[in-house]
Amino acid sequence: MPSMTNLRYRCENCGNVTRFDVTRTQTTKSFYHYSLGGELSIEGQVILADDVSEVSCRWCSTPKSVVEVYEEAEE
Ligand SMILES: [Zn+2]
Repeated sequence: MPSMTNLRYRCENCGNVTRFDVTRTQTTKSFYHYSLGGELSIEGQVILADDVSEVSCRWCSTPKSVVEVYEEAEE
């Protein structure tokens, strides 16, 4: 079994590892299925592009000290 790696964030200024404001742009493609009554259900969403442009510490209100942390997921 290949081990999964989780991406987390950590603020090196205040030690915060749980709360961030993330600015993210996603491009998605999905199947829009309307009923005859006009009710929409969205199915089969595929993420074509996913760009995280800024991760800001919730407490420091700045992205300056936020670093990416990769940790092995528990089996
Ligand atoms: Zn912080």
